[in-house]
Amino acid sequence: MANSLNTQSTTHKANNDSLIGTYDGGLERDEEDRKSDLAGGDKGRILDLQLRGQAWNLNMFDVGRPLGKGKFGRVYMARTRTQPPFVVALKCLYKTELVEARVEKQLRREIEIQANLRHPNILRLYGFFYDGKRIFLMIEFAGKGELYKQLNKLGRFSDKRSSRYIAQMADALLYLHSKHVIHRDIKPENLLLGINGELKIGDFGWSVHAPGNRRTTLCGTLDYLPPEMIEGREHTAAVDLWSLGVLAYEFLVGGPPFEESGHSATYRRISRVDYSIPSHVSPEAQDLISKLLVHEPEQRLSLEKVQNHPWILKYKKSSRSTGVV
Ligand code: ATP
Ligand code: MG
Repeated sequence: MANSLNTQSTTHKANNDSLIGTYDGGLERDEEDRKSDLAGGDKGRILDLQLRGQAWNLNMFDVGRPLGKGKFGRVYMARTRTQPPFVVALKCLYKTELVEARVEKQLRREIEIQANLRHPNILRLYGFFYDGKRIFLMIEFAGKGELYKQLNKLGRFSDKRSSRYIAQMADALLYLHSKHVIHRDIKPENLLLGINGELKIGDFGWSVHAPGNRRTTLCGTLDYLPPEMIEGREHTAAVDLWSLGVLAYEFLVGGPPFEESGHSATYRRISRVDYSIPSHVSPEAQDLISKLLVHEPEQRLSLEKVQNHPWILKYKKSSRSTGVV
C-alpha cells in the first residue's frame, strides 16, 4: 500500500498522446472516492495469495484514454513502456469490492480460463498484476469497441454482417468447447470488435470449465437462457448453441426472440420455444435460427453444421475471421 497512486500519478499518465489518447485522472478520482472504505484492506490480500505472477506494475505503463467503466472499476487504453511498446486495455478492479460482491472465485476462474485461450475471436488476456488495493488485467485492446453499441446505432445488422458474426462465433465456440469451456453468457454486451471489425468474445465471468461434467447452476441473462437452464435441468455445452440462435435472431431483428416485460412471461415463452421471425429475415437465416432454437439440447444443430450451413457459406470469405463487412 506504500505505493499510493497519488505519488504515481505523474509518472504513469501519458500527455495528449495521439495513439492511446489522453488520461482523465480517473484512477486517482476512484482512489479518492474509495478512501474511506478501503481501510480494511486485509480482506483483499486473500486474493494476492490466490493469484500468481507479479512481473508487471502500473509504472510500466503509460495510461491513456478511458475505454469504459464496469461494475468493479475502470478500463483504460494503455501502452507498455517496454521496447517495442505494446498497447493493451488495462482493466482495474478493486479488491475490496470483489470480495464484498463475493466474486473473487469467479474472477479467478475468469483469469485462469481467459489466460489459456488463443483464438482470433476471443480477447486475449496477456497478464495481470496487483497492488495493495487493486487488480489490473492486461487485455487485448478491442479497437472498434462494443458490438451492442453498433447494434443500437443501426437497429439491426444486415444478413451478410449477421452471417459473418455468427460464423466467427461458431469458430470461437468450437474452440472453447474443444477446451471444455462452456461460455454460458453469450449476448451482444459481452462481444467487442477488433480493429478490423472482427468479433471478439470478451467476458468469461460466467464460463465454466467442465471436463466431462454437467452443471446445473442457474446463471446468465434471462433473454439468452435456454429451456434446460430455466427449467433447472442439467445442462451441457449445448446451452451455447441455443444462445447462438438467440444472438443470430437479435442481430437480424434488433431484439431477442423471447423478450417480455416480466420474467415469468419470458420464462414461459422460452420453455415453449414461442417465438416468431419477421419476414424480412432471409429464409436461410430463418432455417439456421430454427435449428438452434430447439427445446431438446441434443437436437440442436452442431457447431460444425453451423459452420457449413447455407446461410454461413453464402457469405463466407476465402480467408475468414479477419474483416467483417
Ligand atoms: P462487467 O463489470 O459486468 O464486466 P462491463 O463489461 O460493462 O461490465 P468491463 O468489462 O469492466 O465492464 O468494461 C467496461 C467497458 O470498457 C466495456 O463496456 C468496454 O466498452 C470497455 N472495454 C473493456 N474491455 C475492453 C477491451 N479489451 N478493449 C476495448 N474496450 C474495452
Ligand atoms: Mg465486462
